[in-house]
Amino acid sequence: MSNRRGLCLVLAAPSGAGKTTLSRALLEQDDALSLSVSVTTRARRPGEKEGKHYYFISQERFDEMAAAGDLLEYARVFGRSYGTPRGPVEAALSAGQDVMFDIDWQGFHQLRAAMPGDVVGVFIKPPSLEVLHHRLTKRGDAPEQVEERMKHAEAEISHAGEFDYIVENHDLDVALADLRAILRACRLETRRQAARPGL
Ligand code: 5GP
Repeated sequence: MSNRRGLCLVLAAPSGAGKTTLSRALLEQDDALSLSVSVTTRARRPGEKEGKHYYFISQERFDEMAAAGDLLEYARVFGRSYGTPRGPVEAALSAGQDVMFDIDWQGFHQLRAAMPGDVVGVFIKPPSLEVLHHRLTKRGDAPEQVEERMKHAEAEISHAGEFDYIVENHDLDVALADLRAILRACRLETRRQAARPGL
C-alpha cells in the first residue's frame, strides 16, 4: 500500500453521536491511519492535551495562520474558530499515510475543494435525537449547553446527505465495522492504486 497517495477520511457528526469513541477505536486498530490535530481558539476542557486533542491558540495566532494559508480549512463552531493545519496533512498524504479528520460539515466541503480526489466524507448519525439528548445529558453537560448542542445537532444532521457515506451509530461495534469497511474499500479503489508498480 505504500506506493499510493494517502486519503483523507472525514468523520463528521453532531456532538454526542459517538464520533470520538469511534475515531479512537479506528486509530488504535489501523497503523496506516493518523489523526489530523486541529487548532482551536476555544478553551481547553479538563483531560484534553495540547497537541493530542487540539493545539489551543489565540484568535490572533489563528487569524495569522489563516491569512498565511497555513490552514487547509477553517470554520466557526459554537462561536469559536477551528482549523486544520496544512503541513502535517500534506506530509502524511505524500508518505502514503491516510489521515482522519474530526471536523464539521463546513470543513468537509472546504477540504474537498482544497484536495479534490483525496477526500472521503462519512457522516456519523446518532440513532435518534432522543438518544442524542440522553447521551449529552449523561455526559454531564449543563442544561443550556445540552439545548445549544441539540439545536446545533439538528442543523448538522441536515447536512448528512452531502457526505459520501452515512453510518448510524446504534451499536458501536457495528458502526466501527462499517467504518473499517468504508476505509478498506476506499483504499482499494483502482485510481488510488494506479501509482503502484505493476499496474
Ligand atoms: P469540540 O469543541 O466539541 O471539540 O468540537 C466542536 C465541533 O467543531 C465538532 O463538530 C468538531 O468536529 C468541529 N471541529 C473540530 N476541529 C475542527 C476543524 O479543524 N475544522 C472544522 N471545520 N471543524 C472542526
